[in-house]
Amino acid sequence: MMEGEGDGEEGIGEMLVRCMQSLHARGLITGSGGNASARLGGGEEILITPSGVYKAGLGVGDLVRMRLDGEVLEGRRKPSSEWRMHAEIYSGREDVNAVVHAHSPFTTGIAIAGRMIGPITPEVALLLPDVEVIEYACPGTEMLGRLVGSRIVGKRALVLQNHGVVAVGRDLLEAVTSVEVLEEGAITTFVASLMGGVNVIPKEEVELIKKVYKR
Ligand code: 13P
Ligand code: ZN
Repeated sequence: MMEGEGDGEEGIGEMLVRCMQSLHARGLITGSGGNASARLGGGEEILITPSGVYKAGLGVGDLVRMRLDGEVLEGRRKPSSEWRMHAEIYSGREDVNAVVHAHSPFTTGIAIAGRMIGPITPEVALLLPDVEVIEYACPGTEMLGRLVGSRIVGKRALVLQNHGVVAVGRDLLEAVTSVEVLEEGAITTFVASLMGGVNVIPKEEVELIKKVYKR
C-alpha cells in the first residue's frame, strides 16, 4: 500500500490518513471503529486519529498531536478514546513508533468462538507465532490501556476479546501488516475449519521458516 511519505509530521499524518482508508477498504474497521497513532521524533509526542469521526474520511487536519501524559498540543478534534492504550504501549516499548487498533471481524470472531490462530501459513508462523487473546475490558478505559500495555511486551499484536486487535510496529506499515496477516490467518483458519479441519505447519518446518527469514 502507501510507501513514499516522509518522516516529518506532515508525512506521518498523510500516512495515518491513508492507513485508516486502507483498513476501512479492507473491512477491518468501520466508520466509527478503530484508531491509529504514530510517535513523533522518537519521543513523548504522538499523532493520533480523532474520536468518533468517520475513519475513512479523515484529513490530516483532523489528527491530534498530544503527549503521552494526555496533554493535547494541537488539533481541533478530541483524540481517540483509546489514547491511553496507545500511550501505555509507547511508554513501555521504546522500539514501537506506530500503533494500529482495528475491529478485524474474522480475527475477533475466531477469538469469541474460543479458537486460536496457529501457525497456519508461513506468514503467520513468522510474524505472529504466539497470538494471544486478552480478556475483555471496556473500550476507552484506563483498565484496557494498562492491560494492553502489560501484555504487549515482546509482541507484534494482541487480540482484544469481544472487541478487535491491536498491532504495533517500528512504523505504520509494519503495524498495518500485522493486522492484515492476522486477519488473513483468521480467514484461512475459518475456511479450513469449515472444510474439514485446521492442520498447522509442523514445529520443525516453523523453525526452518524462521531460519530462512532470519527473524
Ligand atoms: P475512537 O473513535 O474514540 O478512536 O474509538 C474507536 C474504537 O475503536 C474504540 O475502541
Ligand atoms: Zn475499538
